[in-house]
Amino acid sequence: MSEIHRPVRTRFAPSPTGYLHIGSMRTVLFNWLFARHHGGQFILRIEDTDRKRYVPGAEEQVVQSIRMIGLDIDEGPEIGGPYGPYRQSERLDIYHKLAAELEAQGYLYRCYCSPERLEQVNRERQARKEPPGYDRLCRRLSPEERAACEADGRAYVLRLAVPLEGETTVPDLIRGDITIRNSTLNDLVMIKSDGYPTYHFAAIVDDHLMQISHVLRGDEWIATAPYHILLYKFFGWEMPVWVHLPQVLGPDGKKLSKRHGDTAINEYLEKGYLPEAIVNFLALIGWSYDETTELMTREELIRALYAGAYQSGQRGLLDR
Ligand code: GLU
Repeated sequence: MSEIHRPVRTRFAPSPTGYLHIGSMRTVLFNWLFARHHGGQFILRIEDTDRKRYVPGAEEQVVQSIRMIGLDIDEGPEIGGPYGPYRQSERLDIYHKLAAELEAQGYLYRCYCSPERLEQVNRERQARKEPPGYDRLCRRLSPEERAACEADGRAYVLRLAVPLEGETTVPDLIRGDITIRNSTLNDLVMIKSDGYPTYHFAAIVDDHLMQISHVLRGDEWIATAPYHILLYKFFGWEMPVWVHLPQVLGPDGKKLSKRHGDTAINEYLEKGYLPEAIVNFLALIGWSYDETTELMTREELIRALYAGAYQSGQRGLLDR
């Protein structure tokens, strides 16, 4: 475990798009255990910037499920806290201000391409057997061309001007360094034409402003983590420690979904499973403390985060 030199603050940042999935609840548990192990804070942040996928009532259900399995939240939308608001849709001004700063430094640029043009670009790429992506047309616009687009009042998105050369390394607590070539990256959208930020931009801004020290999230985010590292570099901010947790898979090796049975945490609660049993089950998916222990209390789990006791054959929840 690398040394911790700032107060431990972890967060769970769900998008309110439906019920809380078992896999997400495991992420909640790890964040909570990590914060409690280190005497830190556990924060809930609602990532509701994708207006098309927003489901009314989902936020309440998430909070209720977390509470029902007995995990307490230190800061969040209804509790408040020193770094609020904790709902991203209420933080648009913050994203706009910071995006403008990056744009002024040339790290973000305006892209006026229409959805039709982007589709066409992707069709052509597909025909050449290239992965989908943007061809950076607007990154190369001359000042006159740009001014003409502005004068026309063309809608635009803000894209990340990723370095065209070099490499980006994601230091991960569990996996070590993951390095990729920048030439394989895309100029991803950071601010959409509706003025809402994408996950990538909002999450990084918020993790920084909310002083998150450790980001524990599903490993489906490893692929886009290089963009997050670049944002930290461009802003000149100190990065959190990255911990990408393996996803919960079904017996067929595929991501756990409805066809494997119940996946919503409230379905288990409604069927009468005790919160203690659910916590125990979530902790022991993909991990065992030793050869024999099958029941652990929350307090035991908090202690068992890192066993540091290999000599007796025990393994901490975050030891790999
Ligand atoms: N809103 C993202 C999701 O629901 C959060 C990912 C993260 O923890 O950074 O998957």
